[in-house]
Amino acid sequence: MDKLTYIICGKLYDGLAEEFKEGYRILIKNDKIEEVGPDIVQPESAEVIDLSDATVTPGMIDAHMHMDYIDWHTIREEVYTTSEEAKTLAVARTARKTLSRGFTTIRHTGGITSNGFGVLDVKRAIEKGYITGSRIVAAPRFLCGAGSHGDLSQGFAKNPELSMILQDLRPTLGAGKDFFVNAVREEIKYGADFIKIMATGGFFTPYDNPSQLQMNDEELQAVINTAHEWGKTVTAHVYSVEHMKKLIQFGIDGMEHCSLMDEETAQLITDNDIYVVPTFCPYEEAVHYDPVLIQTKQEEYRTKLEYYKDALQAGREVIKNCKCKLGYGTDMVATHQNYESGFEFKAWMESKMGTFRTLHAATKVNSEILQLEDKIGTLEPGKYADIAAWKRDLMTDPYALLDCAFVMKEGVIYPTERCEEL
Ligand SMILES: [Zn+2]
Repeated sequence: MDKLTYIICGKLYDGLAEEFKEGYRILIKNDKIEEVGPDIVQPESAEVIDLSDATVTPGMIDAHMHMDYIDWHTIREEVYTTSEEAKTLAVARTARKTLSRGFTTIRHTGGITSNGFGVLDVKRAIEKGYITGSRIVAAPRFLCGAGSHGDLSQGFAKNPELSMILQDLRPTLGAGKDFFVNAVREEIKYGADFIKIMATGGFFTPYDNPSQLQMNDEELQAVINTAHEWGKTVTAHVYSVEHMKKLIQFGIDGMEHCSLMDEETAQLITDNDIYVVPTFCPYEEAVHYDPVLIQTKQEEYRTKLEYYKDALQAGREVIKNCKCKLGYGTDMVATHQNYESGFEFKAWMESKMGTFRTLHAATKVNSEILQLEDKIGTLEPGKYADIAAWKRDLMTDPYALLDCAFVMKEGVIYPTERCEEL
């Protein structure tokens, strides 16, 4: 017997039109949306859910997460002080918490603390219904070189003997074309949905910098070609424009951060139809410069934020005015707990990105980045009934996406939790 659910919406954003529709209803049959519109008859057998005092949206999607830690304050220690099993528990906890916050799908862009296969076990356990959580799309391990942003043993570089041992714990860290060809194939063998590379240095790691190219041309090309041969996309952690241009030339599918963007490169990205997930959260203290808050950051991270402050501010302006296809991702490793995905909405609001552009990024555009656009991302007949609702005003309240009022995934309602920092 089919299970019918009838949702009465206050306002409705469907992931397609830049508007809130009023007086709409959604009819759900089992796990899929059957009808969306103003004149849907309420079937007698349907369970009725009254969300007339809320704004209904597609389930949100966070396209840049690292799910494998318990607390951002201790993330550096957790790399070496917790077992792979404990890291897998952290992934499961993160997936449950993101779901309770209205984010029905999340993309894991490589394990920070782990070697990453736990995320695939959690993903499969959620898909089979053994545990509760957001739908996961994952690159279990990012590919990177020695001393790079992906090499967390660089924190122990002043003790080379120890650093060498720790470096060897990363099987996807290496050098040369052949190494990376094999690493891509292995990732895909174990179940990666896509490939993530650390193309340039970063802000959070202590001894490298965002302007360094940390994989050479041959390595970058080898990763991208191999992934494409195997039918997978590649996304790159990248900051500087010359390196973005290289990746565009080599055929990259998506880029993360891109925080030091200029207009010429933004145009090139638009022309080549490449997705950018700009992850505003980690740079907020530099972009909206806050001399007090920035003092709470770890010293090396703070120093780099200060050094690149003007470039980050200029880059944000370019991203704001660009025509690139922007996705929504939080990348919380040093600002908030990873499951508080609504903070990126606050960051986009405070950069005057506009409510609909932000919601579009977190729904429709992200569904395309995750290659799930025929299943999720909009409220249309035939799509999964992944639905969230919000009591706060999405036009004016930057905290609106941190206070979820209702969440449904594949037609099943789950309990909600508001952000712990509110
Ligand atoms: Zn990241």
